[in-house]
Amino acid sequence: MMSGQIAKFGNSAAQFLLGGLAALRSFGNGEKDKPALGEDSRQDIDLRDAVKQWREVFEHNPVMYFMVDPAGTVLNVNTFGAAQLGYMAAELIGQSVLNVFFEEDHASVRRCIALCLETVDQPHTWEVRKIRKDGSVLWVRENAKAMLRGDGTPIVLVACENITQRKEAEDALRQSEAYLAHAQELSHTGSFGLSFATGEAVWSRETFRIFQCDPATKPTLNFVFQRIHPEDRDRVRRTLDRASIEAENLDHEYRLLMPDGSVKYLHSVARAVRHASGRIEFVGAITDVTVAKEAEERLRRSEAYLAEAQRLSHTSSWACDVRRQEFAYRSAELYRLFGFEPDQIDLPARDFQQRILPEDFRRIVEVERQAVRQREPFQIDFRIARPDGSIRRVHTEGHPVIGSDGEVMEIIGTHVDVTEQFAAKEALQRAFDELKTSEQRFRDYAETASDWFWETGPDHRITHISEHADTSTAAPTGLIGLTRWDIPPDAELEPEKWEQHRLALDAHLPFRDLVYRSRDRNGHPIYVRTSGKPFHDASGSFLGYRGVSSDVTAAIRAEQAEEALRKAQAELTHVTRVTTLGELTASIAHEITQPLAAVISNADACIGWLGREPADLTAARRSAEWIVEDANRASEVIRRIRALAKKTEIEVIPLDLNQVVREAVALVRRELATNAVSVRMELASDLPRICGDRIQLQQVLINLLMNGIEAMQANIDRPRELAIRSSHADDDGDRRLLLTVTDRGVGLGKDVTDRIFTPFFTTKSGGLGMGLSICRSIIEAHAGRLSAFPNEGSGATFLIALPLPYKDAS
Ligand code: ADP
Repeated sequence: MMSGQIAKFGNSAAQFLLGGLAALRSFGNGEKDKPALGEDSRQDIDLRDAVKQWREVFEHNPVMYFMVDPAGTVLNVNTFGAAQLGYMAAELIGQSVLNVFFEEDHASVRRCIALCLETVDQPHTWEVRKIRKDGSVLWVRENAKAMLRGDGTPIVLVACENITQRKEAEDALRQSEAYLAHAQELSHTGSFGLSFATGEAVWSRETFRIFQCDPATKPTLNFVFQRIHPEDRDRVRRTLDRASIEAENLDHEYRLLMPDGSVKYLHSVARAVRHASGRIEFVGAITDVTVAKEAEERLRRSEAYLAEAQRLSHTSSWACDVRRQEFAYRSAELYRLFGFEPDQIDLPARDFQQRILPEDFRRIVEVERQAVRQREPFQIDFRIARPDGSIRRVHTEGHPVIGSDGEVMEIIGTHVDVTEQFAAKEALQRAFDELKTSEQRFRDYAETASDWFWETGPDHRITHISEHADTSTAAPTGLIGLTRWDIPPDAELEPEKWEQHRLALDAHLPFRDLVYRSRDRNGHPIYVRTSGKPFHDASGSFLGYRGVSSDVTAAIRAEQAEEALRKAQAELTHVTRVTTLGELTASIAHEITQPLAAVISNADACIGWLGREPADLTAARRSAEWIVEDANRASEVIRRIRALAKKTEIEVIPLDLNQVVREAVALVRRELATNAVSVRMELASDLPRICGDRIQLQQVLINLLMNGIEAMQANIDRPRELAIRSSHADDDGDRRLLLTVTDRGVGLGKDVTDRIFTPFFTTKSGGLGMGLSICRSIIEAHAGRLSAFPNEGSGATFLIALPLPYKDAS
């Protein structure tokens, strides 16, 4: 319509304007009532009428007309135009047209005027804001064109159409679109229109963004299906097919698989619109619910974790509505704790309460009531009896929640199944009690024992010594902080022993039965025997030694006494042996002189054989051989005598007892002969060897033979005979070697038999009475037994029984 008006604003109007509005104004105003004269007057009248009409048109046409010179000065403006801007025309004429434009638009207005001036007669159109006198904005669409006046000067004619309303509507629309787009962006919701028949779609900017699609492209249903996650495609297609057939509204969710592999969750709602033609279109919105879905997933997972954590830690949580006395919430674990299935969600609180032992439930009610009254947290332990008969022990903690009315609304809390802990605690307590009893027991032992217990640190300094109830015990005092070698007085006396001991300690080795000299709590010297073993911490670091010590003074003294006795006995044995040898001097001399005499006579014979002509060398050789034999015999006798006389250490070797007997008999041969005593030897040929000391056993035999000879000295009518018998016996594995010496002498009276082994018992005037006592101790040292019996008839028998090893020692 405006363009029509502008079209009317053609050349005639332009001519009119060019003709000078000022003239028109004068026609209309000052000279309108002047009378017309003649033809010219007629023409004037016609012109005046025409001008008047045009003036009406010009002034009241609802188009704003401006006439501007090249400098931008308003040459003329119609009343409507001035009024639109809130001015009188006179206020604008002669002023710069820029005055009705905003400062920031001046440059563009100048450019437009310049453009018109450059292209005379060519129309130009633009839209621009104008500023009213009251400062308000007037949007105009300007049609402008430069024309040349009669004098050839250019002038710019401008016709303006008010487009403020349209502009405001456009702005409002733009604004509302911007708001909508903004709202869609914020809510991740895009809108769409979809024609199922054509597959064409109309999308909002946000929909493009959600689908990550270039807004310049045309969206299609095909593209949508390409984007939909392959797993959801069939379902979506079925949903859309059904909706398009039934014209059903849509409300469904599906996923998009984006080009970068990420997944989006969409919620789509659409209204089905059926057109008169029967064509169905959907208009709807899709919302990107990925964040919500992920949050939902996270929540679901965290709930699953929580449930798992509760299951693992045997912890259940609950909330109890105080007014309704009913659960407001209970976790799955609570069901399990009470022996229910987690899906029994309709169970009333009463069912749970009935499984609590009645006396415990009464306590719970009381404690909860108090917690509500005092608005304080509480904790309580109780027991649950499950249908399977098992009892669970529960520790619960709860705290009241205050509602908006200031009253306690809920109690929320946790139950922890502490059955196992309780059992473990009880077991621990039992073990602890047992340990305490056992510790007390050992403390009692330690305090009453003569041994004492000690502990040393890593530097081997004593850190602990057991207490003793009995103060008379030898356990030393005041030793804490000292090392073992700080204490004994023999550290200097036996440096080697201590060096060995310290090496063992440095190597953290256990040690046993270290005996050292120390002093008891009264300062008296004592012997201490100690054993210890190292102990370590859990990581294996050496912490020191623990061990036990005892006072072994008495034992050591006994050992020392025994040793002294043993020495004295050995001394005595030697002395008596030498004494016996003295008694045997005559026999010994005979033993030696006999072979020596034979040597001499054989030497004589040998010389005789050699002196013959010719010398009888064979006989001389035989004599010489006899000489050698006799000399050897004499030398052997001397060797035995020397051995007996020598003070040697006991030497235990395997021996043939028969041989010992023969040698002993040989030594007393002279005594036998002098006293006309015959010897009968019945020696077992298969005698096993025994382990013993040859010299000592010979001494025993010589003693017995000499005693036998002496016992028969008074025999006048009885033959003087000594019988020596050897044999071996095996009584149920008790293998013994037996040797008897039987005489036919005075025999043993009852009173004598009991005493003959007592030291210094003798019935002889020159006797010492030590012989048999030494013999017995020698045999006992060989683990054997020496006994004496009176014979049936006359005389006495001495029996030596020596043990044989289980295996033949030979
Ligand atoms: P002594 O020969 O110095 O007396 P012994 O200890 O050898 O010391 O003997 C102690 C005593 O035992 C003898 O004095 C004697 O009374 C008695 N006695 C020892 N052997 C015999 C024996 N064969 N027959 C009878 N009495 C004996």
